[in-house]
Amino acid sequence: MGGVVWGAGRPAGGVVGRPVLDLVGADLVRVAQEPGALASLAGTGGCEWPVWVRGRVPGAGGWGGRLAVRCGTRRARVCQPCARLHAGDTYRLVRGGLERGGDGDGRLWFVTLTAPGFGVVHRSGPGGCVRGRGSCRHGRARGCGVVHGEGSAVVGSPLCAGCYDYGGHVLWQAMVGELWARTVRGVRRRLAEAGGVPRSRLGDVARVEFAKVAEYQARGAVHFHVLFRLDGPEGAGLCRLGPPGWAVDAFAGAVERAAADAWVGLPDGRVARWGAQRDVREVRQGGREIAGYLAKYVSKSVGDSGGTDFRVRSAAEIGARRVSGHVRDLMWACWRLGGRREFAGLGLRRWAHTLGFRGHVLSKSRNFSLTYSALREQRRQWRAADSGSTVVVGVEWAYAGSGLSPAEDLIARGVRLDSAVAREFASAARREWRSGYG
Ligand SMILES: [Zn+2]
Ligand SMILES: [Zn+2]
Ligand SMILES: [Zn+2]
Repeated sequence: MGGVVWGAGRPAGGVVGRPVLDLVGADLVRVAQEPGALASLAGTGGCEWPVWVRGRVPGAGGWGGRLAVRCGTRRARVCQPCARLHAGDTYRLVRGGLERGGDGDGRLWFVTLTAPGFGVVHRSGPGGCVRGRGSCRHGRARGCGVVHGEGSAVVGSPLCAGCYDYGGHVLWQAMVGELWARTVRGVRRRLAEAGGVPRSRLGDVARVEFAKVAEYQARGAVHFHVLFRLDGPEGAGLCRLGPPGWAVDAFAGAVERAAADAWVGLPDGRVARWGAQRDVREVRQGGREIAGYLAKYVSKSVGDSGGTDFRVRSAAEIGARRVSGHVRDLMWACWRLGGRREFAGLGLRRWAHTLGFRGHVLSKSRNFSLTYSALREQRRQWRAADSGSTVVVGVEWAYAGSGLSPAEDLIARGVRLDSAVAREFASAARREWRSGYG
């Protein structure tokens, strides 16, 4: 391997003016000699950190040339083009679920479930921050009174870290998946009760489907936005029987009560419940907005709300991460409790970077709508049909590196620019169409 460091600039000869260009130029020549690599790179949609692979058919010769595969992240901070694609998939997925709700009124509900309080935190808003008199046992004021801006760094952090229940916060977060599972079971049970049918026979009359997105609040606690759909016994779709009227009438109440009653025992003897702030509302119109809203949250990084995207591997690393003091304290709590035997099953150290939360950002019941893999498969087939290529099966793949060399980066930037221009054209065309016919 040569000793060239990409982008490092001045070569030993000290010739000013041309050397960097020459490096890129030489790299371009190399890339041009790899036509497969070039074509696959263009196919990644300008991915900022692609993975390179080589393939071979077992028993038939050696490894082929390098092919680029998009990183496929959902996080806009990691790779914009892939995150945009993922957000688009989420939008289609949620929208598909909404459309399956069809034209039946009152069959969709949008529900928000929050975390309980773990201590008083600074908040934004025109009304000003927390009011309170006197001071706590640590000598800190119980009120703040300042008007914090929306993005202020202090918002979400506790008035007194000594009073804040860090252990309770991360334990709740570690158990919230189970709390959610119990809540869904509770909704089905309450619904069966309302209809006077045995719980095991509810599926004969109605089905409960959902898609849910986890979002971090400023205080580092997740809350859930859930889209519930009530289907008839055959599931959703055209010409299928809708859910019975009594189930539609009872649904919001069933969600309210299931959420109020659900609890999970924590290993330290305490109990995890939902916060008092709950919102249950029917969706009649505006389904498009809800799909967009949920897609937007999926493309957010954990890092956007204070956590980090990558796993913490040592206590020292927590100190080195660029996070707020409050988030660091939450990570510390994960690390500290994660080392104790009674909490061993919760994976708190493994999930310190997500502040204890172990779930997926988006999760859904099986029959809510399409899946991400179905959407990817559609796209793959469309692309294969478009390029006229045949789908290769039985190929063995090997990792051949990741990231972009200077010339590859140049090409990826070009692809990104192209698709930005294409998007601009598409939205201009839509605007024109609307103003002409709308
Ligand atoms: Zn990517
Ligand atoms: Zn404040
Ligand atoms: Zn205190």
